[in-house]
Amino acid sequence: MRLQSLLLILMAGSLMLSACNKSQSQSSDMSDNPFFSESALPFHAPDFDAIKIEHYRPAFEAGIGEELKEMEKIATNPEAPTFENTIVAMEKSGRLLSRTSSVFYNLTSSHTNDQIQEIQKEMAPKLAAHSDNILLNAELYDRVKSLYEKRDELDLNEAQMKLLKDTHRDFVRAGAQLTEKEQQRMREINERISSLTTEFQENLLALTKERSVLVDDANKLDGFSDDRIAAAKEAATERGYEDQYLLSISNTTRVPVLKELNNRDLRERLWKASAYRGIGKEGGIDNQPIILELVKLRAEQAKLLGYENYAAYKLDPQTAQTPENALDMLKDLVPPVIANSTEEQSAIKEMMEKDGIESEVQPWDWNYYAEKVRQDRYNIDQSKVRPYFELNRVLKDGVFYTMNKLFGITLEERNDLPVYHPDVRVFNVYDEDGSQIGLFYADFFERESKRGGAWMNSFVSQSHLLDHKPVIVNVLNIPKPAEGDPALISFDNVTTMFHEMGHAVHGLLSDVEYPSQGGTSVPRDFVEFPSTFEEDWAIQPGVLENYAVHYETREQIPQELLDKVIEASNFNQGFDTQEYLAATLLDMEWHLLGTEEIPEDVQNFEQQALAKYNLDMEAIHPRYKSPYFAHIFSGGYAANYYAYIWSEVLAADAFAYMQENGGLESENGDRFRKYILSQGGSDEAMELYQEYRGQEPEVKHLLKRRGLDAGE
Ligand SMILES: [Zn+2]
Repeated sequence: MRLQSLLLILMAGSLMLSACNKSQSQSSDMSDNPFFSESALPFHAPDFDAIKIEHYRPAFEAGIGEELKEMEKIATNPEAPTFENTIVAMEKSGRLLSRTSSVFYNLTSSHTNDQIQEIQKEMAPKLAAHSDNILLNAELYDRVKSLYEKRDELDLNEAQMKLLKDTHRDFVRAGAQLTEKEQQRMREINERISSLTTEFQENLLALTKERSVLVDDANKLDGFSDDRIAAAKEAATERGYEDQYLLSISNTTRVPVLKELNNRDLRERLWKASAYRGIGKEGGIDNQPIILELVKLRAEQAKLLGYENYAAYKLDPQTAQTPENALDMLKDLVPPVIANSTEEQSAIKEMMEKDGIESEVQPWDWNYYAEKVRQDRYNIDQSKVRPYFELNRVLKDGVFYTMNKLFGITLEERNDLPVYHPDVRVFNVYDEDGSQIGLFYADFFERESKRGGAWMNSFVSQSHLLDHKPVIVNVLNIPKPAEGDPALISFDNVTTMFHEMGHAVHGLLSDVEYPSQGGTSVPRDFVEFPSTFEEDWAIQPGVLENYAVHYETREQIPQELLDKVIEASNFNQGFDTQEYLAATLLDMEWHLLGTEEIPEDVQNFEQQALAKYNLDMEAIHPRYKSPYFAHIFSGGYAANYYAYIWSEVLAADAFAYMQENGGLESENGDRFRKYILSQGGSDEAMELYQEYRGQEPEVKHLLKRRGLDAGE
C-alpha cells in the first residue's frame, strides 16, 4: 500500500485542470491491457509502445477494486494480527493501482492531452474516496492498532518499527480513532474542502484572463523585443481586440516582463493587475470567501483530530515537528534578509534617480531597476555564455561525472526501450562493481503537452520486498534547439539539471525493504535537501572546468566570465528571499488560527500578519498573496510552504560539511549515500541527518549560500 504516495499523487493531480467534464467508460479486454500484469521489459519499465489511452480507466477501476479486496482480506483474516499478515500484507497490496498511477500521473504533467485530463478529473474524487475507504476501515485499523500497542514486543528492526508507526499514524491522521459521528463529519469536511480547492483553482485560471492588461498603443511597449510585441498583438487579436496588445500576469505577484517595460505607468498597471487579483474588484472574481471557509474547515479538522491548529497537525509528521520550530528558523532569517534587501533598495533608488525619478521605490520599479543594476554591475552577454554550456556535455561531463566521483555510479545511454515521447532518453545505471542499479529516463525539452517547471518521478520505486529496482525520470523545460543544432543552455538550466539529478539519485540509490519507504518517500521539508545539495556542485572547481567547455573551440570558460555568471546568480537574493519569507509566514499565520479566530477581512489579516514579522515593506510584497496562493489553497502545501527553505538549510549545511572534509571525494559521497540516499523513509529524517552530520544543521551556511551573510 502506498498511502503517502497516493495522497501526493492526488495533490499533484489537483494542480491540473481538465478542459472537459463528462466521460463515458470504455471497455477493454483485460488480456491486452498492459497494466494487468507486471511489465516484462527490463526493470519492469513501462511498455509505452503497448500502453494506449483506453487502458487507463479500466486499469484504475480494476486497481481500486483489487486493492479494496486485498485490504478486506487482511481486515477479516481470522488469524491474530502479526506484522507479516497485516503490515507487510498491506505493503504488498495495490500493485495494479500503483503500476497504473505511476505511469498515468507522470504523463498528466509531462505529456498530457484532453483525454488524459478528462480521466484525471474523473479519478480524483474516486481515489480520494478509495483512500478514505481504506483508512476508515475499522477492522483494518483495529489490527494495526493492536500491533502498534505492543510494538516493543514484536522484535522489529528499525525500518519495520518506522513502518508500523507510520502506518498507524496514517490511520489516526485520517480519523480512524474518531467516533462514527466525527468520522462522518471528517468525510463531509474532506468533500467540502475538495470542492473549495477545485473552485479556487478554477478561479485562478479565470483570473489570469480577467486580469490581463490591454494596451492600445505599441509605443507604450518600449523595451519589448519585436517578437514579444507581435505575440502581445496576437494574444489581443485572439480575444477579439484588433490592433491592441494583451499582457498576461504570471502565477506570482511579480510579473517577469516588468523587467523590460520602460513605461512606468504601464508597469504600475500590470503590477497592480497581478497583485490585486481575486479580491472581487469591480465585481470581478473573489477568492476571499473561499479562503475564509477553507481555513475554518481546516482548523475544525485539526481540532477533531486533537491538534491546537492546522499547522500543528500538518507539521507533526514533518522534520520540523512543530510550527514553533519552523517559525524560529524563519524568524532568524528576517533580519539578515531585510539588511540585504534594504541595501538592494538603495542601489535601485540610485538607479531611479539617474532616470530622473524622485519618488520612493515602488514594487513595479523593483525588478525593472534591479535588472539595470545587474547589467551595470556584471554586464553579461548571455550569447557569450551559452556556448560553454552544451546540454550533452553538461549532462555527461558535469552531472554524470559528479555522480560518478561522489557515488561511483556510471550512466550509459540505451536506445532499445520504448518511451512516451521521442525526446525522452533512457540510461542504464551501474554501480561501482558493475552491477545494474536501475534505469534513468531524461525528458529535457519543453513542449506544449508539458507543464512548466522541473521535477523527478518514479515509474518503479525501489523495494526489496517486491524485488523492484528503481526506474526514475527527470523532467525539465529546456528550450529545444532547431533540428541539428546543439542545445546551448542557460546557467539556470545547468543548475536545474544538477538539482533534478539530486532527486534522481535519491530514488536510484534507495536500498530499502518496503515500497512505502523507497527513495523520496520522506517528509516534505526533507525531500528538497538532496536535490538542493547537488546544485552546488555545478560551480565547484574540479567539476566546472570539466564540463564548461566551448562547444566549437573546446576552450574552457574564461575565469572572468565565469566569476560574473556566479556573482550574477546571487544577485537580488535579498528581494527573492524576502518575498518568499513573506509568503511562508503568511501561510503559517493562516494555519495557526483556531476555529474561533477566523478573521472577516482577508486583506486586513494579511497586512497584520506581515507587520508582525516586519515584512510589510512597501516595495516588496509576498511572492503570493492569499487570493492566488495556489500552493496552500489548492495544492498540498498548506502550512508547508516553509519546507523549501527548511530543506535548503540542510543542503547548505551538508555541502559546507563536505567542503570542510575534502570536497568531491568518494568517501564523502559514500557517507552521504549510506546515511541519506540509501535510507529513503526507513528512519526518522532528522535522525538520519544527525547521524550523517554528527550534529544539528546550522543556518549560517544557508545565508552564505544565498549571499546574505555580508552584513553578519
Ligand atoms: Zn526539487
